[in-house]
Amino acid sequence: MMDESCIFCKIAAGEIPSKTLYEDEEFKVILDLGPATKGHALILPKNHYRDLFDLPEEEAQKAMILTKKMALRMRERLACDGFNLVQNNEEVAGQTVFHFHIHLIPRYEGDGQVIGWKPGKPGDAELEEIRKLIVEE
Ligand code: 5GP
Ligand code: ZN
Repeated sequence: MMDESCIFCKIAAGEIPSKTLYEDEEFKVILDLGPATKGHALILPKNHYRDLFDLPEEEAQKAMILTKKMALRMRERLACDGFNLVQNNEEVAGQTVFHFHIHLIPRYEGDGQVIGWKPGKPGDAELEEIRKLIVEE
């Protein structure tokens, strides 16, 4: 399952070179070309899925297990102090390559990167309204 116009499909198929950290039948893990920090990596399923909404559950499970394995390995080898996992879906959320991927971003004391958001201050009523919107039939 490949999209001819997708750069990550081409990387997954080896048609475009990448610095590969891990590869099996279903996944490839590569270094990001525009890293936030040293070792910033991307977990890619080889099949083309646009985003989390398209990703089958079985591949979602495998992707998270692989993410954990890579994080352990990278923490050991890079001696990073922490990790951010980032996974963007749709342009509004910062997705620029529309082939599902998980960012593994090693964090180092004093690395100066900012990965976050401005916290809001919702009242209890607003939180309750949102909770109901999500959970109630
Ligand atoms: P997104 O913004 O979609 O969550 O993340 C896309 C990521 O892919 C970016 O961090 C960008 O640096 C990386 N990227 C884009 N094109 C290439 C490429 O050709 N090779 C590699 N290794 N990374 C890429
Ligand atoms: Zn693709």
